[in-house]
Amino acid sequence: MSETEPIHQALREQRQPLRFDIFTLFPEMLAGPFDASILKRAAAAGLIEIQIHQIRDWTHDRYRTVDDRPYGGGAGMIMMAPPITEAVESVLGSDLASARTLIMSPSGIRFTQDMASSLAGAQRIAIVCGHYEGFDERISSILLAEEVSIGDYVLTGGEIPAMVIIDAVARLAPGVISVQSIAEESHDKGLVEHPQYTRPVEFRGLTVPEVLLSGHHQQVREWRRAAAIAKQAKRDEKESGHS
Ligand code: SAH
Repeated sequence: MSETEPIHQALREQRQPLRFDIFTLFPEMLAGPFDASILKRAAAAGLIEIQIHQIRDWTHDRYRTVDDRPYGGGAGMIMMAPPITEAVESVLGSDLASARTLIMSPSGIRFTQDMASSLAGAQRIAIVCGHYEGFDERISSILLAEEVSIGDYVLTGGEIPAMVIIDAVARLAPGVISVQSIAEESHDKGLVEHPQYTRPVEFRGLTVPEVLLSGHHQQVREWRRAAAIAKQAKRDEKESGHS
């Protein structure tokens, strides 16, 4: 089954959509990516739902202040606890306790395919995007939130990390793409995916490995497994050379 096949009618009727609520100071950054391809179809089919919330809507002063200087001194501005806490509490309401609340932070635990699978089993996921120098520490304690990083580098804001997480989680939500596509792919069982080829058989002198044309399912499976192990080993070796 291809990833672009229509989404299953039965799944659509059985389940509530997996709901994402994103809290941000820059909603305009999030407009494009959810409005194309697989995520767009998943939302249209009622398998996922994405709502974007402006944190400033939960400020109470005339300047709609969301950040302030750090206690103890230091560079930059820190996002204040009250607007974000109130925003998440009021949007999630009685779902607060059962939802997964994620705070985007380069010092959080690293996002992985395993975490994506576990999140895909949730009913509701709230994602808080930071900006400037980050958050008042009390936000995550009050909201019982998980601090999550998409990798060991620092970005200007949490919007791109939120998109990364939603994209990875949404494609695992039941019905979004075929079970077969998910079953054999990179990072499943700690292994990258095997190399893939499609037409033409020969391109610029490079030919597709013979065994893939043979029609021998068992041999194809064995070749793929060996090729995935080799690719993973090469990747590990290159990575250790960079660290
Ligand atoms: N001073 C902070 C960095 C702030 S970067 C620190 O050293 O930890 C501004 C915001 O961008 C963060 O609050 C977070 O929401 C987001 N962000 C930056 N890099 C990120 C990453 N690797 N993963 C997740 N979020 C990130």
